[in-house]
Amino acid sequence: MANTYLLTKSKYIRGLQCEKALYLEVFKPKLAFYPPETLAKFRQGRVFEKTFKDTFPNGIDLSARLRYRMDSYPVLTAQLLQTPGETALFEAGFLYNGVLVLADVVHKHADGSIDIYEVKNSTAVSDTFRNDVAIQYYVIRHALAAILPQDLFCDRLSLSHFYLLYNDGADGFVKQDLKEQAHAACGLIEQNIARFKQVLAAEEPSMPMSDQCDTPYECPFKRYCKRLKK
Ligand code: SF4
Repeated sequence: MANTYLLTKSKYIRGLQCEKALYLEVFKPKLAFYPPETLAKFRQGRVFEKTFKDTFPNGIDLSARLRYRMDSYPVLTAQLLQTPGETALFEAGFLYNGVLVLADVVHKHADGSIDIYEVKNSTAVSDTFRNDVAIQYYVIRHALAAILPQDLFCDRLSLSHFYLLYNDGADGFVKQDLKEQAHAACGLIEQNIARFKQVLAAEEPSMPMSDQCDTPYECPFKRYCKRLKK
């Protein structure tokens, strides 16, 4: 089946850093280079995330069931969220406006309210993390409107939380609800998505190397762009 999405959460974040990096990530992903220190950070992040997921012993890991069948994540997520009762889902998928997001943890309570957790192995809340939660909020709130009965949607959304779950400095958890900020960012997110779709429909953009190559992350395409400069 053809992909029903153009962007993912990580590609959206990449596009905020640099439109050329977004283009390369979609069309030339093999050019990416991640140094060993970055790969080690990714591994530490996955360990911290697993520690939090272990606090939901009955959680259902969609990635274990579906692997790389990305189009199936929103379908299975909708089925599981429509099942009455409490449940916790790991890597639950939501699709809206051509953007697929996989939420680290979705905890549906018995009353139907839903807590979304984005897990970061960091001791501070950065703008990038806020953007990360905001794109999830944008996609998930629209996807939930299609999943939940209309008479319950507003009520359950108002009771729901969009948490950034981060490290307290001693490998414990701190959480901050970023839902209000995420809600305020929805108009800007829609504009960004439209712009990124245009980028992906055009030729590879030309972009001079500058501060954006290291902010907020070291871009994995620096080697490629440096070669182009020569
Ligand atoms: S190295 Fe710099 S210019 Fe090149 S894609 Fe990355 S952020 Fe953009």
